[in-house]
Amino acid sequence: MNVINGNEIAAQIIEELRVKVASSAVKPQVLFIRVGEDPASISYVRKKQKTAEQIGIQSRLQVLPESITFDELASVIAIANEDKSINGILVQAPLPSHIDEKKIFNLVCPTKDVDGFNATNLGKLCQEVDDGFISCTPAGIVEIVSRSKIPTEGKNVVVLGRSLIVGKPAGMLMLKKGLPGNATVTFCHSRTSNLEEFTRKADIIIAAIGKPKFLKAEMISKGVTVIDVGINRIADNEKKSGFRLVGDVDYDNVMPLCSAITPVPGGVGPMTVAMLMSNTVKAFELSQKQSNS
Ligand code: NDP
Repeated sequence: MNVINGNEIAAQIIEELRVKVASSAVKPQVLFIRVGEDPASISYVRKKQKTAEQIGIQSRLQVLPESITFDELASVIAIANEDKSINGILVQAPLPSHIDEKKIFNLVCPTKDVDGFNATNLGKLCQEVDDGFISCTPAGIVEIVSRSKIPTEGKNVVVLGRSLIVGKPAGMLMLKKGLPGNATVTFCHSRTSNLEEFTRKADIIIAAIGKPKFLKAEMISKGVTVIDVGINRIADNEKKSGFRLVGDVDYDNVMPLCSAITPVPGGVGPMTVAMLMSNTVKAFELSQKQSNS
């Protein structure tokens, strides 16, 4: 049984990027836009900035007030889209409820959309062209599968969740012609009947629903690979913070049945930041190519 170490794989990717960036005289630059003072967003952006610094990617942070209007935020993005020194733009989600997140994501120039949430990049993912950006968590899942040498061709992949940022792109990547990919993919969601009939037939389960310990041992077959994307807080009086993180999988009972599994924390989570950095370096390389041609 292989407990996949996402921290180790992410560290490898970060080191590969550091070497690549070190060999370039000009450095990539990413802009983080954070709206409001949500503690989780502050901590996510800080982690992204720290990782960028480790690689040699320059980062800028623009903090905007919670009360910002859609139009004001749109003009901040328009200025960043025009700024040639910025290769990647990330608008940290969640945005305040009065701002339509999808509309904002679509305003980011597709060639700077390192989060991969823009409709153009989601379209490129479906077209299987490789000059687009794949959203970071699904891209991280693919790296885990590929670097852990988990076979996907002809396998039954069941994706729990159909969100635009995780479930749908993760399933599309497993469906893609080529490797990793060539799988037969089933999407399950909150309206799926008899969900366990699908999960029991799965060779690989990608769990991304946001329900603590949802996937139980009796819902799977022996030898399955489980990629647990969920990040859920549950109360834990023994922790100083009063909570601990668990995934969407009942890890202790599911793990002994698996051929491979990602833990929470330390599985998919660290990969998301690594893939954001990878997208930023890719955006930089594409812009360099364009300015040289
Ligand atoms: P969303 O809330 O956007 O989507 C959840 C999906 O799960 C929906 O498609 C929903 O179905 C489905 N769902 C909800 N309840 C059930 C149920 N009982 N049975 C079957 N399907 C169900 O979540 P995200 O995709 O954004 O995130 C999913 C999880 O992944 C969360 O825990 C989140 O914190 C975590 N996450 C982790 C990241 C990482 O870096 N590791 C990055 C991003 C997310 P329906 O469409 O019908 O509503």
